[in-house]
Amino acid sequence: MADRRQLYVEMRAQDLDSIRLSTYRTACKLRFVQKKCNLHLVDIWNVIEAFRENGLNTMHLSAELAVARLEVVLSTILYQLNKRMPTTHQISVEQSISLLLNFLLAAYDPEGHGKISVFVMKIALATICGGKILDKLRYIFSQISDPAGIMVPSQFDQFLREVLKLPMAVFEGPSFGYTEQAARSCFAQQKKVSLNTFLDTLMSDPSPQCLVWLPLMHRLANVENVFHPVECSYCHTESMMGFRYRCQQCHNYQLCQDCFWRGHASGSHSNQHQMKEYTSWKSPAKKLSHVLSKSLSCASSREPLHPMFPETPEKPLNLAHIVDTWPPRPVNLANDYSFSHSMPTSGNPYSTKNLLESSNHQDEEHSLIARYAARLAADAAAQEQRDPTDLLYSLDTNKQQRQLIAELESKNREILQEIQRLRLQHEEASQPPPDKGQQNPTLLAELRHLRQRKDELEQRMSTLQESRRELMVQLEQLMMLLKTQGPGSPRSSPSHTVNRPIPTPIHSDSAGTTPTHTPQDSLMGVGGDVQEAFAQGPRRNLRNDLLIAADSITNTMSSLVKELNSEGGSETDSLLDSDFGRCDLMASTSSDHFFTYKPRPVSTAEEESYENNLERQLEDELKLEELVKHRQETDETCMLTLQQ
Ligand SMILES: [Zn+2]
Ligand SMILES: [Zn+2]
Repeated sequence: MADRRQLYVEMRAQDLDSIRLSTYRTACKLRFVQKKCNLHLVDIWNVIEAFRENGLNTMHLSAELAVARLEVVLSTILYQLNKRMPTTHQISVEQSISLLLNFLLAAYDPEGHGKISVFVMKIALATICGGKILDKLRYIFSQISDPAGIMVPSQFDQFLREVLKLPMAVFEGPSFGYTEQAARSCFAQQKKVSLNTFLDTLMSDPSPQCLVWLPLMHRLANVENVFHPVECSYCHTESMMGFRYRCQQCHNYQLCQDCFWRGHASGSHSNQHQMKEYTSWKSPAKKLSHVLSKSLSCASSREPLHPMFPETPEKPLNLAHIVDTWPPRPVNLANDYSFSHSMPTSGNPYSTKNLLESSNHQDEEHSLIARYAARLAADAAAQEQRDPTDLLYSLDTNKQQRQLIAELESKNREILQEIQRLRLQHEEASQPPPDKGQQNPTLLAELRHLRQRKDELEQRMSTLQESRRELMVQLEQLMMLLKTQGPGSPRSSPSHTVNRPIPTPIHSDSAGTTPTHTPQDSLMGVGGDVQEAFAQGPRRNLRNDLLIAADSITNTMSSLVKELNSEGGSETDSLLDSDFGRCDLMASTSSDHFFTYKPRPVSTAEEESYENNLERQLEDELKLEELVKHRQETDETCMLTLQQ
């Protein structure tokens, strides 16, 4: 076990007492103790973990720990630290424990009772260990607040009592000793102090006077390894480390922290001059840009002192209990930051290890970024043109696209089915009553059939008309012959005329035969009544035309017969009388009478049931056909008579 005085002997050798400013002096002394005991390598979370391992988190704060128990806790902390340290940079755990234990006993058990309370243990180690001040203060607050997250004033007072024993232990009691006034000055008017208020107060600038050394100790640690490439105007050292001070009156008068803290001055400079503290060094160019950006930005770029925590936590922020579930936390990057300042960078294996770890992490991150960038590049290349190198990627894309198309297709099918279903519903809703709906198709079919039938009949009618026209042409020629022959030679030319072959259409009654020339053209030479009967007016009624024509033929025939009778012999009188009597009868009687007495040869039309108009029209047309047939027979008879 090291000499109880060893730590103080070494500290005195540092000539820290020559520092004129008590805050810096106190901070420097405590920083020295911290580093001497290797506590600067221990994070507050490591300390909390060690407390948990030794069951301090379940003990009452006022419970007292014997020195042996105290030693166990300290050895837990320091042996755990050695496990995290590289083998080449192991600390002397025994010596560290001895120094730390002697310091704690000197600070908290000056009368040698051999006992320290759990609360004291927690506050002292949490204050003097490494790590971030924010974490430290949060842990301390958890020890002095109630379950609702409100600080208990008496416990804060107790905290101040114990924490200020640390400056007293390094002989700074006169400056930072506990007073009731000091405790009240921190949170004078506040009734309820939450964690945020507590942090606001203790981390403010300036912080409460009694605790001003605590944030300074952390600042000290942070700038410990900051190098300033300028020469100290007093000691002329060229390796200025830590804080740098610049006189605001003397041109380019700069002091290292050792010279400034001790009040050194040279030349025209006085230690009464206002000095500015720098924690970093900037090149003149950088400084200018910094000044410019500062003057250009209207908004204050001041960062908050600490992150804001919930005002009323749902459960008390008792980290001593919370850590039960927490994994042992290694020293984080923030600690690494502070440690990097507390040791020479080149020779700090701990920092190197962390750097390696972080560089591994960075490598992983870099490879991820690289992969992502490569994929983006491949994407762009694939869009521009399909490159063989992107085959794998494009295959993958094709697969995805096919999958997408399949999905879209199935969706489309679903939509179509839905549309079909809706359409059917709509049709059902908008359909007329079933009896009418079923009738419609039948009626339409029937109508279609009737129209077809009508077309056929019209064609047939036109054929018949053509036949009749030819017949009439023959009649016309016959009449002309009779007129030109005169009474003298009645029998010479008729033989010639009769020998002429009768055109075939006269005998043909087939419906399929169509006229090869228009009736109008073929009426050339047909005069008078006949031509008039066949003249094609616009939308003229065919039936009426036929009837008129029939009448005109009858009239013509009558006149022919009369002429024949007036000049022919008496031997044919009986026959002609009977024949022409019938002809006269036909001409004189109404068509209705005539139509009814002849049987209808076409029976197919009768089987169909027609609508009234259609049926009547059809019947009329069929009757006309009969009439024409009959006329034809009559004409033949006439011609035979003429031949005779
Ligand atoms: Zn100097
Ligand atoms: Zn000066």
